Amino acid sequence: MNIRETGDRMVFQCESEKVKGKWYRVDRLSMSGKGQCSCASWTYRVAANVGRKTGQQRCKHISAVDLWFMDKLCVKLAKTEEAP
Ligand SMILES: [Zn+2]
Repeated sequence: MNIRETGDRMVFQCESEKVKGKWYRVDRLSMSGKGQCSCASWTYRVAANVGRKTGQQRCKHISAVDLWFMDKLCVKLAKTEEAP
């Protein structure tokens, strides 16, 4: 899944897998850190579960952003540790 940064802190864009050129906005710090996405899945299914103990807590775009961000962070941390 294609992901790009927006310039706003912890706000990303994630491209739709079905409709190329369509980007969803993922605000990772929203909802007390649970994240918020502009896709239909998040809006109509996930939003009602956020803060509850059960139910889907994230859409696939938030999950994709998390993986992407973690990868980036690990590469950065590895570089920092390699530095003299
Ligand atoms: Zn989404």
